[in-house]
Amino acid sequence: PPATVGQAVIPLVNRLQDIMARLDGDAAAGVELPQVAAIGGQSSGKSSVLEALVGRDFLPRGPDICTRRPLVLQLVRHSAPEEWGEFLHAPGRRFHDFEHIKREIQSETDKEAGGNKGVSEKQIRLKIFSPNVIDITLVDLPGITRVPVGDQPTDIESRIRTMIMQYIKHRSCIILAVSPANADLANSDALQLARLGDPDGSRTIGVITKLDIMDRGTDARNFLLGNVIPLKLGYVGVVNRSQEDINFNRSIKDALAFEEKFFSTLPAYHGLSQCCGVPQLAKKLNMILLKHITDMLPGLKSRINAQLVAVAKEHAAYGDTAESTAGQGVKLLNILGKYCEAFSSMVEGKNKVSTDQ
Ligand code: GDP
Ligand code: MG
Repeated sequence: PPATVGQAVIPLVNRLQDIMARLDGDAAAGVELPQVAAIGGQSSGKSSVLEALVGRDFLPRGPDICTRRPLVLQLVRHSAPEEWGEFLHAPGRRFHDFEHIKREIQSETDKEAGGNKGVSEKQIRLKIFSPNVIDITLVDLPGITRVPVGDQPTDIESRIRTMIMQYIKHRSCIILAVSPANADLANSDALQLARLGDPDGSRTIGVITKLDIMDRGTDARNFLLGNVIPLKLGYVGVVNRSQEDINFNRSIKDALAFEEKFFSTLPAYHGLSQCCGVPQLAKKLNMILLKHITDMLPGLKSRINAQLVAVAKEHAAYGDTAESTAGQGVKLLNILGKYCEAFSSMVEGKNKVSTDQ
């Protein structure tokens, strides 16, 4: 199966969510899993990257401006085998055909932003229910453009920049800074904006797309190694489907096979397997998620403990000894802590993909 987001951390996130579900509102407040936002210039490949991560075709992509409203994509894991999408604007209507999801996104975009390349900051919210995902939110944003076209206002560039900043300024946002390999990284809109939103670079992953269509005689080795613009979390290079592939309905599975072959045959990428390919990007995201969860545990623990003390007092006042939900929370949290440790050492031992490159 194609590499989807979070295969490796699914059990971990599930347990965390179990705990959260048992807690009272106060202790659970503010514990949110990170959002992952793809940013970059128009047609840099943002939608293609997100789609490859989810492993399904459903986002409008193309050489023109396609993403014209922020699409907030909530992946919801469930145990049933079916996969479907549901939009916030059409509650209760299940889209089982991902082609229909794409069309719905397009028509909702036109409804709000007009049919003539207009852009709107009003979100489209889509939930995808599937057994193959973890509960995470991905955000597909309009790309940065400079020259207004169609019905776009003259200040289109600053409007889009402001819109993107609203997402990436949050500390829980993981930024996928998408830059095409066929342009100089020093001109990357994504990296420039990511620096503004995440000045210390602790939550920015560089994604270099279009490695397959670089100028002949050039390669992205130095980009990927961080020799051009260093990034704490490093870079991952990917090969997505070209417009021709999209026109001919080439599947994600075929595209992943092509990508793998591409990296294994080009000598320039030998020895760089950790930063090449969509599966590596998924792995990197998982490591960052894991780190986020691990970092969040101590704070969560103290909040639960505080709740436990409060509840114990209340129970004592009534002479009640029944175990509280907070007490259960502490037990589960201890299990989770151990689980995190075991998982970290397992992952670190097995492969050397680290989040601090
Ligand atoms: P976005 O505007 O950043 O969301 O970019 P899209 O994902 O819509 O992609 C823009 C165009 O670039 C589409 O025609 C894609 O097929 C093409 N594209 C994206 N990534 C790659 C890649 O890695 N290689 C090639 N050859 N084409 C790509
Ligand atoms: Mg797009």
